[in-house]
Amino acid sequence: MEQDKLIPFNKPYIIGNELSYIADAVQYGKISGNGKYTKRCQEFLEKIYGFKKCLMTTSCTDALEMAAILLEIQPGDEVIMPAFTFVSTANAFILRGAKIVFVDSKDNDPNIDETKIEAVITKKTKAIVVVHYAGMPCNMDYIMNLATKHNLYVIEDAAQAIDSFYNGKALGSIGHLGTYSFHETKNIQCGEGGMLLINDEQFKARAEIIWEKGTNRAAFFRGEIDKYGWVDIGSSFLPSELNAAFLFAQLENLEKIQNKRKAIWNTYYKKLQSLETNGYIQLFDLKNTTSNGHLFYIVCKSLEERMQLIKHLREHNVHAVFHYQSLHKSNYFKDQHDGRTLENVEKFSDRLLRLPLFYELSLQEVEKISTIITNFYEN
Ligand SMILES: *Cc1c(COP(=O)(O)O)cnc(C)c1O
Repeated sequence: MEQDKLIPFNKPYIIGNELSYIADAVQYGKISGNGKYTKRCQEFLEKIYGFKKCLMTTSCTDALEMAAILLEIQPGDEVIMPAFTFVSTANAFILRGAKIVFVDSKDNDPNIDETKIEAVITKKTKAIVVVHYAGMPCNMDYIMNLATKHNLYVIEDAAQAIDSFYNGKALGSIGHLGTYSFHETKNIQCGEGGMLLINDEQFKARAEIIWEKGTNRAAFFRGEIDKYGWVDIGSSFLPSELNAAFLFAQLENLEKIQNKRKAIWNTYYKKLQSLETNGYIQLFDLKNTTSNGHLFYIVCKSLEERMQLIKHLREHNVHAVFHYQSLHKSNYFKDQHDGRTLENVEKFSDRLLRLPLFYELSLQEVEKISTIITNFYEN
């Protein structure tokens, strides 16, 4: 009998004009950053989601580092964020000397538990960083009110949250600053890429300088000044036009990509819902969330059960992967953590399992994966 092919966890794809736009950028004679494709990507997102300004970066990690520089984070400042996130959310602020204060997740989803934030705010707190896990919105009304009350900045790590909304507002457009990722595992991708989303006008001019290695070159190119020079700190945060050309072709197909990803997400949900009803697994809490089809997870009953399920899926040629090791217990951070137990973070770290979700995955494959999981629990 012929062996089934492995269904990978993720698979990048070409959906439209990626390669012809790259060829066009090369022929046009400018492939360094801030060219026509970079501008097209930025304007596209500003227009459809209402950001005051977008700056394309080489990664979401870089966009977060720019955010930390813009907020003038200094050694001794405290920054509050969830412990259930990717290392870059924390690293960007660690690099400026900040002390990170990690907060627990909610019981019904891995996002930061907003009700536990105020208790850890001190005189040294400068910012709250929220992460919209799987594109699910955090409780932004609550968090923005808290930030106003204590005079704090809010940064949205919206790496996974493109085309997701909270009360009609795009995620990433609510805090003072936001960030997107275009890593190949994200909905819209260019291999490696990101975007700084600026919502507070006061950051617009300086962001462009930090982006251009601390120079006012962007203003020079627009003809606003006669010569450009070194005016601030900065780094090389702009990607090549080759990345931007690829990304623009993906953005042009945003709706098509989103429709397919949401169809996959909905099929998983429909097929696996009865396992939740029967008490085998925990699924997304749909009460106050919509999905942007970024990722589909299930929460197992224990670490052991998750290991067995991963093995079972692998034996049936499906690659499923877990997510994140709690940052407060990481080798790098564990001695700096203040000792609070973050029980929901540990729960999701031990028990959450992500299923394959990518544009070319067929709905039949989704049904097949769901059946393999159902058989694991019911037999
Ligand atoms: C993917 C991701 C990042 C990092 O994005 P890069 O573009 O790879 O730097 C940061 N935060 C979260 C929540 C992510 O999912």
